Amino acid sequence: MQSVCILGATGSIGESTLDVIARHPDTFSVYALTAHSRIEKLADQAARTGARVVVVPDDAAARQFGQVWGRSPGAMPEVRVGAQALVDTAADAAVTTVMAAIVGAAGLPSALAAAQAGKRVLLANKEALVAAGNLFMQAVRDNGAELLPIDSEHNAIFQCLPHGDRASAPTAPARGVRRLVLTASGGPFRNTPLADLAAVTPEQACAHPNWSMGRKISVDSATMLNKGLEVIEAHWLFAMPADRIQVLVHPQSVVHSMVEYDDGSVLAQLGQPDMRTPIAYGLGFPNRIASGVGLLDLAAKGRLDFEAPDFDRFPCLRLSFDALRAGQGACIALNAANEVAVAQFLDRRISFMAIAQVIDASLQSLASSFGQAPASLEDVLALDRAARARAEALCRRAALY
Ligand code: NDP
Ligand code: MG
Repeated sequence: MQSVCILGATGSIGESTLDVIARHPDTFSVYALTAHSRIEKLADQAARTGARVVVVPDDAAARQFGQVWGRSPGAMPEVRVGAQALVDTAADAAVTTVMAAIVGAAGLPSALAAAQAGKRVLLANKEALVAAGNLFMQAVRDNGAELLPIDSEHNAIFQCLPHGDRASAPTAPARGVRRLVLTASGGPFRNTPLADLAAVTPEQACAHPNWSMGRKISVDSATMLNKGLEVIEAHWLFAMPADRIQVLVHPQSVVHSMVEYDDGSVLAQLGQPDMRTPIAYGLGFPNRIASGVGLLDLAAKGRLDFEAPDFDRFPCLRLSFDALRAGQGACIALNAANEVAVAQFLDRRISFMAIAQVIDASLQSLASSFGQAPASLEDVLALDRAARARAEALCRRAALY
């Protein structure tokens, strides 16, 4: 029986995880659930799953949880409060498996704590790897943690690579692998005239053609910064240099990614664009378990298309490759500036096109502080804070109103 902690349970990945777990009551039990703002939803999830622990950000949220719970039958779970509680719960001795599905660098300390505690870590929170790939992968190795990539592309690559029954953290590319090919849908603006991009709204940016996801990652998909973060994520997960990671636009989102071998073989993983497939793979590994995802009807799809990405239309993609080559400080700044810029875009304070400009200007103005790779979580968080402050100042300058 796996005892599961879901960090970010109230989000899109959290919900999909609960959906898969509910199909296998004899294999998984829910020990802990965490939320940030959706406390009613958290209470509903806790009541449904019988979670023993919930984690909320502050006392006001804890009071709200208590009030909402008053209406449900059954014993109230233990309510833990604050950032340290998040870290402690990820490392709780009662937990075997942690789904790291908080959005943004806010999820780094708890994801890292799960790795340091030697858990089976199902990693959806790509920003944790972008900001602290070296620390995170080292923690997995040093503490015998199991690392299962949940991001669909990385889950696909993992499935196409040779591995035994334990998922670990490689220090060199898998033998015989020439390239990793990350597929990208191209998002909602793949064919939008460039002149129209300046005026696109948050609603348009969040309307992804194939995937239903949280708002931040939906905007990242629209700028293709998401694919850039995924290139950096792939670099760390598979110990692969930047020049052996290719991005390929594939609008149907059926081929989730590919591995090209030295002999010319290319292995791909296909499936519906539904995160329950990679989540079920991570939960069940090394076995295959039912996810609730239906059959893939390729005859109905009719065709699969592929094209090279347009780096001019999507400058965030180039910025991401540049950051990966420049080193970890640049990756932290890229991610932090993007989180700030996306939040400001969703608040309608800056335009869609300003997102890339703010990231670019943040990276340029911070370049002198990128020197050594950060050696500790504190170093990472300090650089993250500095980059956020810089990006916020730049956003004020870029403001529309
Ligand atoms: P959502 O926005 O749907 O959910 C985010 C979760 O994180 C929510 O539970 C939210 O709580 C919680 N949260 C937000 N801010 C904080 C904070 N400061 N501290 C603690 N918890 C916080 O995001 P997604 O589920 O879409 O994405 C989660 C992660 O998975 C991201 O890193 C994303 O890149 C990655 N991912 C997502 C995919 C998808 O299909 N959705 C695909 C591949 C990767 P609350 O809702 O209560 O405010
Ligand atoms: Mg992805």
